[in-house]
Amino acid sequence: MTSTLHVDSVTKDFGSVRAVEDVSFTVDEGKFVTLLGPSGCGKTTTLRMIAGFETPTEGRVRLGDHDITMEEPYLRPTSMVFQSYALFPHKTVGENVGFGLKMRDVPADERSDRIAKMLDLIELPGIEDRGIDELSGGQQQRVALARALITEPEVLLLDEPLGALDLKLRKNMQVELKNLQEELGITFVYVTHDQEEALTMSDEIIILNEGEIEQRGTPTEIYESPRTRFVADFIGDTNLLDGTYVENGNAAIVECGSVDVPIDSLSAATDGQSLSVSIRPEKIALGDGAGNGNGNSVTLRGEVEDVIYQGNVAKVHVTIDGTELVLEQQVIDTVNLPTPGSECTISWDQENTNVLTG
Ligand code: ATP
Repeated sequence: MTSTLHVDSVTKDFGSVRAVEDVSFTVDEGKFVTLLGPSGCGKTTTLRMIAGFETPTEGRVRLGDHDITMEEPYLRPTSMVFQSYALFPHKTVGENVGFGLKMRDVPADERSDRIAKMLDLIELPGIEDRGIDELSGGQQQRVALARALITEPEVLLLDEPLGALDLKLRKNMQVELKNLQEELGITFVYVTHDQEEALTMSDEIIILNEGEIEQRGTPTEIYESPRTRFVADFIGDTNLLDGTYVENGNAAIVECGSVDVPIDSLSAATDGQSLSVSIRPEKIALGDGAGNGNGNSVTLRGEVEDVIYQGNVAKVHVTIDGTELVLEQQVIDTVNLPTPGSECTISWDQENTNVLTG
């Protein structure tokens, strides 16, 4: 039996605050799905409803055919890892890792075996008798993970689990966690506000904004084809231009101040409608070389305003009659960087213009 996780039309109110509004999504067994969004958008509350630490005001949570909406957290086939680790400071590593088994009355020798296997899995073998305060932050995080995994949950819920680690350790742990998830085949629902982390680790990302889902997709879909202004702005750097839709036969433009951005005509848009477009800086080239030779590239003349050197790349700010666009150029040789004040041509493949509908 496959155990797809279903979150069905879930809403959560805390008094007059609506933390989560009518959120629905499914996560197929064995997938790594991330809830991503800014602080306060409802990520943790959604996760806590799946874990059973909060009861939805409306809606249901199911695992396969099993409705777990009202089930006690410890009876659910879920387990949660917290940013703060939430380890018991006065218990040993072994007691911490084995806690869930003890609660389920697993006999002591089976417990010891399973604790040892878990510590092997997290590559900290033989540290059963250590105190929690003798461990580094990264080691504590692994122990927290082992404690959550030992009960063999079908779904592991992780709330910013790497948030307290320094950047280097965090990057290493991202890869390790992803590898572990693939090895174990457990469904992971991961919460973070760090877009790079989400892009690196997830099979799919669900973007939340003010308690509602903005967009769901693979990391590439989310990055390459944001559908709303919020998603385009939240993920990565982008050029966001607000304008007006103007039909022109089979083609159309979005008039954005001094810049006309050509797009395919949209059946859902009407002449004069407000519309925004986004173009990633790395999709814009200096010169007129962008596009695939089929004539559907966008070429504009402007002036280089500023060049910000960042090592491997440079951000080039270009103004087109007062409208600024930023492009990112690989730095192979600093001699080839443009000079502020010089005239320039910029171009991009029309396919890389994202029309934002929300
Ligand atoms: P963060 O990244 O800061 O943890 P989040 O996206 O996880 O944020 P939530 O913690 O789910 O967001 O909070 C969503 C909203 O619900 C916020 O406005 C928050 O203040 C509110 N909220 C969360 N828990 C409670 C609570 N127990 N009582 C009252 N309001 C709450």
